[in-house]
Amino acid sequence: MRAAGAGEGSGPKPRAAVAAIDPYVPGAVPPAVERALKLASNENPFGPSPLAVAAARAVLEGVNRYPEAGAPTLRAKLAARLRVAPDQILVGAGSDETLHLLANAYLEPGRHAVMADPAYGIHRISARAAGAAVTLVPCADGVHDLPAMAAAARAAGAPGVVYVANPHNPTGTVVAADGLAALLDGMPPDWLVVVDEAYVEFVEPAQRFTALDLLDRHPGLVVTRTFSKAYGLAGMRVGYAVASSEVLEPVGRIRPPFNVSTPTLAAAAAALDDEAHLARTVRDTLASRDALCAALARLGLRFLPTQANFVLVEDRDGWPAALAADAIAVRPGANLGVPGWTRISLPRPEDVERLVEVIAWALEVARS
Ligand SMILES: *Cc1c(COP(=O)(O)O)cnc(C)c1O
Repeated sequence: MRAAGAGEGSGPKPRAAVAAIDPYVPGAVPPAVERALKLASNENPFGPSPLAVAAARAVLEGVNRYPEAGAPTLRAKLAARLRVAPDQILVGAGSDETLHLLANAYLEPGRHAVMADPAYGIHRISARAAGAAVTLVPCADGVHDLPAMAAAARAAGAPGVVYVANPHNPTGTVVAADGLAALLDGMPPDWLVVVDEAYVEFVEPAQRFTALDLLDRHPGLVVTRTFSKAYGLAGMRVGYAVASSEVLEPVGRIRPPFNVSTPTLAAAAAALDDEAHLARTVRDTLASRDALCAALARLGLRFLPTQANFVLVEDRDGWPAALAADAIAVRPGANLGVPGWTRISLPRPEDVERLVEVIAWALEVARS
């Protein structure tokens, strides 16, 4: 056995900013039983596109070679779709990596980060790791308070980054287009505005807009997207950021040159072409969302109005424990900055009924 350590007080110490970070607590993996449902990490329960799987498989024999540095093929494909230039796209191992890279390039001690409370975990961790002072601006009824966030940025008196997840995680709520435009208009010019659109595909048409449409007017705007949710490629690790080439150029300097693997790049490109798979995923996710929210309302449980593939529900009468006992893994709000609430990722429509039955049963038992 190697020594476990020379004890308190000696040995290497992380930077103070890193030591102060609350560790990220991943979603629980349910027990390995057939009826298990994993509803803890906002994954796509329908599986990846078969085209993406085939594309990844087809390049495996060539993985003795490094992947394309900087993902030029995927960037070209994304650029054509999003109507931006290829050098306006940064591809990462998940959008989480692009968030870490952005924080490393634009934050340091003395600079500020402003985000919602509750915040998406990686926004908070990446900003803290870079040494920035983090201001958490409480959500109002679960929705970003954009005027207060802009005011916090202006009050900081130093450069920084403001984060808006739209839809937000863990609340599932969206901001309005005019509210976001006003935030952008009210930001100090030396600030970056990161709009994280990880769940944008799930927003109903009446509320859907993308901050990509505002890129031309706001040089500090960055939009992040992912293949992990609607595209069903969470395990492949690929996402991207879109911004001006001037904003992304310094970020590219610190990006590991081969940050995204060859199979992953192939899968992402193929997934973009499988529009039918994406459409089915969105349709079925929305069917689950409507059914689950209607049932929660019937049961009298409080939940936030969600436009994402999950819903944040108040804890009451031990229903989260009843789910755990039935091998249904959900995410405790205590791990997400919202104690007293639980986040349920949406299952397939055919699994909603069982989910609702277990919750209803727990409420019933508590009443009797
Ligand atoms: C899931 C999620 C992401 C995506 O993370 P990946 O690293 O792309 O898997 C980004 N932002 C938010 C708000 C998320 O919930």
